[in-house]
Amino acid sequence: MDLKSLIREIPDYPKPGILFRDITTLLRDREGLRYTIDFFTEKCNAAGFQADYVIGMESRGFIFGAPLAYKLGAGFIPVRKKGKLPAAVHSIEYELEYGTDCLEMHQDALHPGSRVLIVDDLIATGGTAGATAKLVQKLECELVGFGFIIELRDLQGRNNLPNLPIISLIEY
Ligand code: IMP
Repeated sequence: MDLKSLIREIPDYPKPGILFRDITTLLRDREGLRYTIDFFTEKCNAAGFQADYVIGMESRGFIFGAPLAYKLGAGFIPVRKKGKLPAAVHSIEYELEYGTDCLEMHQDALHPGSRVLIVDDLIATGGTAGATAKLVQKLECELVGFGFIIELRDLQGRNNLPNLPIISLIEY
C-alpha cells in the first residue's frame, strides 16, 4: 500500500518554512490504519525486537505505540509532557531549536532489566526520541531499538540516538 499517499502535507505549519506531515489522514483511512499497524509489527519482528514494553511519546506516539504493544504482546508506557502524569515521575530536559522541553515517565513504570522499544510517529532531529532513550537508560533498562512511522532523513535524527536498530516505514 502507498502510505505516502495517505499522509497530508501542510506547508508553513506550525511555522513558516516547515512542511508538516499530517498523519490524521492516514489514521482515518480504515485500510491504511490496519496496514500501518500490521506492517509496523512485521518490521519489528523482522528486526528481532523482543520488548517487554513499548514506550510512546505524547501524543502521536500513543496512537501507534499502544496498538503495536498489543500486537507484540508487550505493555505500553506513556512518556508525557511536564506535569501531566499523576504519580511520581522521572524527568528529562532536552534542547529544542529555541529553549528546552521536558518529558516525564512514571517512576514505577519500568524496573531494571526491562526490555524497551521506543516508538513515535515521526523522527525529525531525534531530540524527542534521544531524550526518551536517556530516560530509559538511566533506569538501567535494556533499550532494544526504535520504531517510527515516518523518518525525515535530511535531518539526520539517527545521529542523536544511541547505536541501536531503528526502523521506519516511510522516509522523506
Ligand atoms: P524531533 O524531536 O525533532 O525528532 O521531532 C519529532 C517530534 O516532533 C515527534 O514527537 C513528532 O510527533 C513531532 N513532529 C515533528 N515534525 C512533525 C511533522 O511534520 N509531523 C508530525 N509530527 C512532527
